[in-house]
Amino acid sequence: MKRITIAKGDGIGPEIMEATLRIIKASGAQIEYDELEIGEKVYLSGNTSGISSSAWDTIRKNKVFLKAPITTPSGGGYKSLNVTTRKMLGLYANVRPCKSLHPFVTTKHPKLDIVIIRENEEDLYAGIEHQQTDEVVQCLKLISRPGCEKIVRYAFEYAKLFGRKKVTCLTKDNIMKQTDGLFHEVFKEVGVEYPEIEKEHLIIDIGTARVADTPEDFDVIVTLNLYGDILSDVVAQIAGSVGLAGSSNIGEECSMFEAIHGSAPTIAGQNIANPSGLIQSAVLMLTQLGETEAAQKIQDAWLKTIEDGIHTADIYNQETSKVKVGTREFTDAVISRLGQKPNVFEPAKFDSETITIKPYKRRTALTKALVGFDMFIDSKETNVEKLGEKIDMLSTGKIKLNMITNRGIKVWPQGLKETFCTDHWRCRFKPAEESNFTYEDVLSVISGAHKLGLDIIKTENLYTFDGKAGYSLGQGQ
Ligand code: NAD
Repeated sequence: MKRITIAKGDGIGPEIMEATLRIIKASGAQIEYDELEIGEKVYLSGNTSGISSSAWDTIRKNKVFLKAPITTPSGGGYKSLNVTTRKMLGLYANVRPCKSLHPFVTTKHPKLDIVIIRENEEDLYAGIEHQQTDEVVQCLKLISRPGCEKIVRYAFEYAKLFGRKKVTCLTKDNIMKQTDGLFHEVFKEVGVEYPEIEKEHLIIDIGTARVADTPEDFDVIVTLNLYGDILSDVVAQIAGSVGLAGSSNIGEECSMFEAIHGSAPTIAGQNIANPSGLIQSAVLMLTQLGETEAAQKIQDAWLKTIEDGIHTADIYNQETSKVKVGTREFTDAVISRLGQKPNVFEPAKFDSETITIKPYKRRTALTKALVGFDMFIDSKETNVEKLGEKIDMLSTGKIKLNMITNRGIKVWPQGLKETFCTDHWRCRFKPAEESNFTYEDVLSVISGAHKLGLDIIKTENLYTFDGKAGYSLGQGQ
């Protein structure tokens, strides 16, 4: 018997979890479980993380976690438990397979068969947000080389293991040259190790448009956290319904399996939710646990149920469905077909082989040199020239005010009067001679700025790495 952890979650969570557990049990899978209370009730009892510390012990002990969706109460003060779990357990790869079920589930894209491999720990989901001025808030987008390497390598290994032909990388590196640029650069570097797999890179906006228009041109997609989150809902929806797709969250030690959809509170408790997303997640989980026979049995029975036109409301269509059923009746239909094979769809054939990636090896660090700094200030001054003159008073023979930007666009010197300005200013200082510049010089400017009465929000150092700028230019610079 293998022991896993389960959580029934919120909204439709308990109904779809009950359905999934009944199917797992009926399949004969050698699984037993510990159940956890997480989510809304825990949040509302005053625990802002939505999970107790003893629950972590159970999850870490059992290592495999089957989780129903949970509701994160809106408003400040509550951290998303989904994001916390993925990051605390190092679940770096979010794998979201989507395949159309044509001709039984209505879709404009009968040949859609895409696996989205989404980076799961970084990006804007670092959750580091600050209000810096009355008018401006920020969210830090953190991208690391190990993070990029792990996910890109995982995507190529996945493609190799499952005989997939192409990996497409989606980024916005035409705009975010440092963050998305690193992801793309690592994709090119790691891709060299997989000559047998076709590689392509597209900018996320046109990439998403093409995925929505001609999904049959795509195979495996690897992308950053936020883009992957959005894109996988798009792909699941155009394949038939967000209620159909499952996902795995894979780490080196632990893994978590969940439907891609949320807790759908408006349909909760009405026996109308489609349990397929969680059933598909359970199939992924059983395969990983080596319970391939049970996984195949469930998948075949599920495909047969769909073929037989037994459909929940979200995929019901008079032309392709035979009967509209509720969550429980759909579950009964799957259970009664355990042992049967689908007639039209290819029967499932799973392999318990798991993906292992080469451990990340830190490269020899490049030579890092301090070549200036950006000082961010809060100022209600509306006359940019006056502000520029005041801050330029901090320039010395050794260090000069190089430019001021507002929301990234250069406004001093020689800005345009049409540019809209907020109360959030970035003042870039560059030394007269880079070789002779130290952090002491930064501190002396900050100290001078403080004495001038400027409201300093933060500073950010400018570095070069092996002579290459590790910062962006001001827009319009
Ligand atoms: P949602 O995915 O819950 O619902 C979006 C739409 O899809 C709704 O119309 C819903 O009725 C429908 N839908 C979703 N799952 C379905 C299913 N299984 N069968 C039939 N229809 C289904 O997204 P939302 O409304 O944006 O979010 C609701 C809550 O879920 C929020 O609190 C959000 O934070 C949470 N959420 C949780 C997770 C998770 O736990 N992994 C993921 C996303 C959202």
